[in-house]
Amino acid sequence: MTPSGSAGPSPPHRPDEVGPEVERRGDDTAVSSTPPGGPSTLAVHGGESRDKPGHSLTDPIFATSTYTFTDTASIVRFIEEKQPREEYGRYGNPGERVVEAKLAALEGAETGLLFASGMAAFVGVLMAHVNAGDEVICFDECYHRSREFCRRHLTRFGVGFREVPSGNYAAMEAAITPRTKFLVSESPTNPHLSVVDIPRFADIGRRHGVLTLIDATLGTPFNVRPLEGGIDFVLHSATKYLGGHNDLLAGAVLGRGEVIEPVRQLRGIMGGINSPHNAYLLERGLKTFALRMERHNANGLGVARFLEAHPRVERVLYPGLESHPYHAEARRSMRGFGGLVTFLLRDADWRRTAAVVDRMRVARIGPSLGGVETLIEQPMVMSYWNYSPADRAGFRIADNMIRIACGIEETADLIDDLEQALAGAS
Ligand code: PLP
Repeated sequence: MTPSGSAGPSPPHRPDEVGPEVERRGDDTAVSSTPPGGPSTLAVHGGESRDKPGHSLTDPIFATSTYTFTDTASIVRFIEEKQPREEYGRYGNPGERVVEAKLAALEGAETGLLFASGMAAFVGVLMAHVNAGDEVICFDECYHRSREFCRRHLTRFGVGFREVPSGNYAAMEAAITPRTKFLVSESPTNPHLSVVDIPRFADIGRRHGVLTLIDATLGTPFNVRPLEGGIDFVLHSATKYLGGHNDLLAGAVLGRGEVIEPVRQLRGIMGGINSPHNAYLLERGLKTFALRMERHNANGLGVARFLEAHPRVERVLYPGLESHPYHAEARRSMRGFGGLVTFLLRDADWRRTAAVVDRMRVARIGPSLGGVETLIEQPMVMSYWNYSPADRAGFRIADNMIRIACGIEETADLIDDLEQALAGAS
């Protein structure tokens, strides 16, 4: 019986398979050699082998769901000697391992795991580490579906869940009990762009023996490095900046081998792994990650400064602006401030606000962020339409709020687009 065989329960991966992803490629492909270098070099070369099948420069897509053994003796060797090789597609595929190693290189992580979506990664981490009776505490600006998973679903399994106001470290620490297992936050948050003091957050977790997780989807490893600040898990919706082309869904979680390994074991059972074709798209998108981030950062700052000076704009939320409450923290801990800008229109109800969104010609209307195409949306409509006004007020989602996720178009073109939309809808 192979580890994936149907003859009985067995671990989806040998328990000792913790360590650099790069050493766990299929037995017919050479191990990778991540060169030292900056984010662009790591994005292009990180995690890849210099010696690919067929002398190819780029990684092939291994379009297979299973892997074969030459004979029974090789199966026994695989099991007994724990040989690094592929076995069955739910446990891993070579392309996905390359991306995991590339992300680990970019993040400065010991290891990482790819999932079919950001939510699959979040659910995987929590389900792998919490038990009935444990408690999870979350800053209340964390991605609303992550909080919904904890509030509606983890609690069904006897796991407690508490939300405390984002940025209130005293409240978070006060909420910790002997049952607390996880502290969770997003940074920067969406759509308010609040920035977590990572070392402080990590320190609270360490002092209380509680695991810490930062969803750094908006931050990206180009702009923030939560693991260096002592966080246990950094999580990404790779659907956003990492994939970068609005053409795929993926998620990733990175950290130390010892905390990632239980997640790997569970992923092999849950099955939320990235397919070989999707992993290839992600690897291809990642090649230009650092280059794209430079433009996202420049566009975000340019658009935020333009909006802040516009008479029809009441307020702009962007951590790169001096007016943002978390500007000092952002300056201290971020290399750039990303492409997401939130702004509130002066004297506008939701319909007048929608009229501005509807007049955009370059930006497309839609959820998501981090891709090459600029996307714009009104959070009250796009994500919070079914909530009561009181609930929306509690989430600080205003009717006159617009979120623009700057892509990589020219800054001047995005500004012109906003200018005409603001002028025409007045
Ligand atoms: N985390 C953040 C900050 C997000 O914005 C999202 C999606 O919008 C997710 C996680 C979930 O990612 P996915 O849509 O890839 O499941």
